[in-house]
Amino acid sequence: MLMFCFRTLQNVPFLRLSAGLLACVCLSAALTKSFAGQIGMGAEGRHGGLAPDIAAQRLDDAICKAWTVRVPDLSMGLCTTSGLQPTGGRSVQGEPLYRVDIRAGSPQLRVIVVGGIHGDELTSTTLAMHWLQIATDDPSIAYWRFIPLLNPDGMLASPAKRMNANGVDLNRNFPTKNWAVETKHYWEKRTGRDPRRWPGKFAGSEPETQFLLNEIHAFQPDLIVSIHAPYGILDFDGALTPPKKLGRLHLDRLGIYPGSVGNYGSLEHHVPVVTVELLHAIDAPTATETQQMWGDLIGWMKNRLLSDRYSDLVEQGSHKHLN
Ligand SMILES: [Zn+2]
Repeated sequence: MLMFCFRTLQNVPFLRLSAGLLACVCLSAALTKSFAGQIGMGAEGRHGGLAPDIAAQRLDDAICKAWTVRVPDLSMGLCTTSGLQPTGGRSVQGEPLYRVDIRAGSPQLRVIVVGGIHGDELTSTTLAMHWLQIATDDPSIAYWRFIPLLNPDGMLASPAKRMNANGVDLNRNFPTKNWAVETKHYWEKRTGRDPRRWPGKFAGSEPETQFLLNEIHAFQPDLIVSIHAPYGILDFDGALTPPKKLGRLHLDRLGIYPGSVGNYGSLEHHVPVVTVELLHAIDAPTATETQQMWGDLIGWMKNRLLSDRYSDLVEQGSHKHLN
């Protein structure tokens, strides 16, 4: 954009400079607005509030009611005071996609927490909702972005289902390298064409996938926490030292799933991904477990992630220097 403006200004006579500049400013603004709309930042209206069309998607009592009926251990009080905001992003069936940002005074890390990627893993949204409540009271060292329900069509379906409304497993739809070959091979050979694990027609084909991709690119997290169930373990993608455990969940690397958030985040975006696999998809973790998992996550972020990330950056910097 800057180059375009520069070239334009170079080629216009002096008297047309102001018009050229104005055109550039307008075009910049239009493109910025367009991009902001894509990443859900276009929600800001003239007066700093939500644009009317997005404000209409507020997480009101009716939506919270639908969520609380489906999501275990989610009260109306927790839902309505969560601060979740509509983003302009929508699911296949037009359900709004919500997020909330919670920021420490001087954050040292940026973290995206995402739940409800698989619609039948109900407790993943429970945990994200309870963690965002804990973070609201004490965000510790981070600037958090919570997206508790990425796949509302799957979770609110009767019965709840893993895939989105197009029958796509969103956690196989992220644009990892050689996506077409690897996800096809995985789906056909490893899952025997299991419809619950269909990666979709092409990488990033689904609006829910596109939404999270835009969130990752816009927010630039240092860590992504992706919540699932019911394998009862902790998985980690990335080059840094993983957490050994979160509460009762112990590190057990599941392997590589082409098209998954973990695979995409660590390999394509170079951000570590902690995948939480809760013990149960329907029975919510207790308040004590929720707190223990949070405490272990914060402890690892403070004691390992910060220092490892710093070393990693120094190493990258020295390599750049040498090259
Ligand atoms: Zn899952």
